[in-house]
Amino acid sequence: MTRFSPGNLSIELPAVVDGEVRAAVERASGAFVGWRETTLAEREGCLRRAQERLAGKKEALAYGIALETGKPITEALGEIGAVVVKIDLAIADARRYLAEQTEADCANPNIIRRRPRGVAGVIGPFNFPVHLAHGAITAYLLAGNTVIFKPSPLAAGVCGVYGELMRESFPEGVFEIVQGGASVGQALVSHPAVRSVCFTGSVAAGRAIAKATAEDLSKDVALELGGKNAAIVCADADLELAAQSVAEAMCLTSGQRCNSTSRVLVDQRVESTFIDLLRAKLGAFVPGDPLLATTKLGPVVSDIAKQRYVETIGQPFDWIVTGGALESVAGKRGHYVLPAVARAPLRVAANLPIFRNEVFAPVVVVVATTSDEEAIGLANATDYGLTTSVFTPDRDRFLAMVDRLEAGNVYQNLPTTFSPGTLPFGGWKNSGNGRPGGRGFVRFATDEQVVQMKK
Ligand code: NAD
Repeated sequence: MTRFSPGNLSIELPAVVDGEVRAAVERASGAFVGWRETTLAEREGCLRRAQERLAGKKEALAYGIALETGKPITEALGEIGAVVVKIDLAIADARRYLAEQTEADCANPNIIRRRPRGVAGVIGPFNFPVHLAHGAITAYLLAGNTVIFKPSPLAAGVCGVYGELMRESFPEGVFEIVQGGASVGQALVSHPAVRSVCFTGSVAAGRAIAKATAEDLSKDVALELGGKNAAIVCADADLELAAQSVAEAMCLTSGQRCNSTSRVLVDQRVESTFIDLLRAKLGAFVPGDPLLATTKLGPVVSDIAKQRYVETIGQPFDWIVTGGALESVAGKRGHYVLPAVARAPLRVAANLPIFRNEVFAPVVVVVATTSDEEAIGLANATDYGLTTSVFTPDRDRFLAMVDRLEAGNVYQNLPTTFSPGTLPFGGWKNSGNGRPGGRGFVRFATDEQVVQMKK
């Protein structure tokens, strides 16, 4: 399929050629035999080599992300910065979680240890094409697994460069990359020698992977899926801060983050002030060429994504910030869109598709609420459970709300996109399982083995 740069449709990108899954699995299976015998220190050494190579190519990798996906270059540089730092965090995790334990309460001497599973398949999305896969990849490798990475075909070029830097840092076959789309992903997860799968992407694809692997109980499948993340704005909130946080969390990566804010539940007493402030803050997010350092709002990734946005803003809501799709920006044709904000009445909101489904574009729906109870009920009224922010200065009020919020990550006075790599990250409900997105994933990348020796 012909591909074009989303920020400049006159730039044609190289076509994606499907990789050979079977051959990659054979190489990775062969390499596992030796790799699992290595010490953690040896594996760390390889990761450190990869870290140096990745740091050396930071600018080129960021440029590739911006060119292929339309992510603004400053954000893309941030992504690669996180990729480099992730290796430090992954090593700290491996030392912590892979250390052998012993249980004093047991009659016999014993060892509780974590062993690698074998060949792992990692499938990545387009929006953090390197970083999200890399988190799982580093954990699998440090635990002694070999890895096959299938990146998003929308970011095949930059992931190919990343793949080469990683591949040359490890013994042959320990890290492999196969390019392609859904069918290559299916072939990878279905291969009997692939023992562990980490998938980040949409619920639909996550379901297809869960079905494809359901018969083989020797496989572990970790899923990081979508979100329909809410910002709850209480009457006592710092409204400037809330409006700024919502504007950022709806516009970063053009709203194409799993943790983007797409719903605002605001106390009716402050709704109109909040909306005025949000409108003003959104003024800073002007669509621009993703390759320019000044751009804060890039294009969406594809024509399909743009059409989904156009259909959404064509629906008869009370649009208080009117969006719109732009044919071109500064003379460059691309998938450019404007931020859009709709209001929905409380009594019908929870049934509306705009309230329940990911649009994956800079679009939010605002609902005025009359109590914390109501806001919590609405925040929970979706099939997702990834991130929720509450804006209130009152810590006790916040913590009381946290107990009833169905989300894996909850923030006070921070945007829903605030996900530092130093903490665990993952979703509840249809947002996923296995918590592959942050700290501690190395536990999932292993099987526990309990050893007892008669006294
Ligand atoms: P996608 O599901 O379309 O594709 C993701 C990956 O899966 C790609 O590599 C794709 O080729 C592959 N794929 C698609 N169908 C497949 C199938 N049937 N079998 C095997 N592989 C298949 O997602 P996307 O558009 O690249 O990314 C956006 C989605 O990812 C959003 O829903 C977003 O919320 C989610 N996401 C979640 C997180 C998280 O941490 N929870 C992070 C980033 C993105």
